[in-house]
Amino acid sequence: MVKLSRYLKPFTLIIILAIGSLFVQAICELELPKLMAKIVNIGIQQNRNDYIVDMGLIMIAIALIGAVAAVLVSLFSSRIAAGFGRDLRRCVFARIQGFSNAEFDQFSAAGLITRCTNDIGQIQMMLQMGIRFLCYAPIMGIGGIIMAVLHSVSLSWIIVLAVIILSGMVAVVASMVTPRFTLIQNLTDKLNLVSREGLSGMMVVRAFNAQEHEKQRFDGVNKELADANRFVNRVLNTMWPCMTLIMSGVSVLIVWFGAKQIAGLSMQAGDIIAYIQYALLVIFAFMMISIMFVWIPRAVVSGRRIVEVLETEYVVTDPASPKSFDGTKKAALEFRNVKFRYAGVKENALRDVSLTVLPGRTTAIIGPTGSGKSTLVNLILRFYDASEGQVLVDGLDVREVSQHELRARIGYVPQKAELLSGTVWSNLRYGSPGAASGELEAAAAAAQAMEFIAEMPEKFDAPVAQGGSNVSGGQKQRLSIARALVKRPEIYIFDDSFSALDFKTDLLLRRALKEYTRESAVIIVSQRVSAIMNADEIIVLENGAVAGRGVHSSLMQDCPQYAEIVSSQLPKESS
Ligand code: ADP
Ligand code: MG
Repeated sequence: MVKLSRYLKPFTLIIILAIGSLFVQAICELELPKLMAKIVNIGIQQNRNDYIVDMGLIMIAIALIGAVAAVLVSLFSSRIAAGFGRDLRRCVFARIQGFSNAEFDQFSAAGLITRCTNDIGQIQMMLQMGIRFLCYAPIMGIGGIIMAVLHSVSLSWIIVLAVIILSGMVAVVASMVTPRFTLIQNLTDKLNLVSREGLSGMMVVRAFNAQEHEKQRFDGVNKELADANRFVNRVLNTMWPCMTLIMSGVSVLIVWFGAKQIAGLSMQAGDIIAYIQYALLVIFAFMMISIMFVWIPRAVVSGRRIVEVLETEYVVTDPASPKSFDGTKKAALEFRNVKFRYAGVKENALRDVSLTVLPGRTTAIIGPTGSGKSTLVNLILRFYDASEGQVLVDGLDVREVSQHELRARIGYVPQKAELLSGTVWSNLRYGSPGAASGELEAAAAAAQAMEFIAEMPEKFDAPVAQGGSNVSGGQKQRLSIARALVKRPEIYIFDDSFSALDFKTDLLLRRALKEYTRESAVIIVSQRVSAIMNADEIIVLENGAVAGRGVHSSLMQDCPQYAEIVSSQLPKESS
């Protein structure tokens, strides 16, 4: 909570205004019972109508001022809470943007979404009520006690008794519900996770007739969440009637013992009325505090979850004084004895990989699924950092330059093509905002995307839905290849990027790519021998280790793993 408070600093002025208005409101409310007592004691008992009217008008005026102050308090506290929520969301989002895959492995996407929405919402709500209750309640409570005692010392024990009972009740309730709040937030995460999976995997769920299974999974979490919420609500809702009961009891006690004092002439009727009202104000103050006792732990849970995101140390960071690439020559790529292990996994995903790709050359990586091909290319972009050894671009360790500069030199086509919602234009231009239309068209043509773009009624203005769900897998792949080409980078990475293409398109595309990659270092990951046969060097990866390297013909002779892959694909190639 303390760590989050610095996001409140910009609101200092409004906070002061809000508290000022609160004071005005509280003073007005403390003033009213006193005037009421005067009306009863003087106006009614001495039958002075003019006095009643005068006092009544003053009371109306004070009540109006109090009402205006109350509106201002609401206004200010809403502004503070909404603004604080906005700032916090901005910061959390910005922090997440800087996450590398290592941090994404740690938090689930669903968890991050809950933290960004629900958790910040909790804090926002707490703040909105907190400004009002936490400042208002002490003023009312202490003010009420002072005013009550001024009216009668001998009845003070009633208020003391009520306060003791109330404190005990608040303590019991808080200890019962607080542990449930952590549970509720975690269950909300889980619910988001299950519903996200169920929705994004809808096709799979249906195809495998697993709706019932998904429904049960959802129902399970949903029921747990409902149970936890129900428990909390039950406890809280039992508390309110108890408080009302205490209030009534206090009124009865005051009237009972007050009546004796009136009979003994040590107190006047008006004072009793005022006394009851002050006692009720004190109890109200306690109710507010008890509400806060419920809300604060909940917000603390949420706050902790947000701070967790904000304080996650980036695994992949820019160096303090980044070096710059020597821009005069084309970049080469080198892996020097690279080892890599995923967090929480015992085995190395890469063991001692070395390779060099010079400008204008192509290195292909082939190997069974799970052999570490994607892991290897991820290290070039610093999605992860090597555990041991070095990845060098242009002779510089990738950790020595800024991520921005590094990635600006790389054209990356991921294994799973991802498009962003927008148009074909906006997707092609994604990495190079300044690119001319001609360049986009050329890149689309080289990526063999022209044909299907031309078929769409809006051509390049055709809308692309979220996640590219309105284009086919192969079309998505071609667009994502074109997007990388537009950048005209010095290093190309194709991570199994031709897998969804038919053989003819694949061939045409590789021919067209040559013009783009002539002076660049190219890494092609592929399962298809046909796609990599002509590479300058082929690296066979197995279990994260290099099982063989060389050109096609030499590997056919010395690398049994390679020969095996080739023979398994030959019938397919010739058909
Ligand atoms: P390929 O691209 O060759 O199919 P990957 O590089 O994706 O293989 O994966 C290599 C190995 O690393 C696999 O055994 C896989 O299970 C493991 N792996 C991949 N990503 C992660 C991750 N985020 N956390 C832990 N292990 C991972
Ligand atoms: Mg892969």
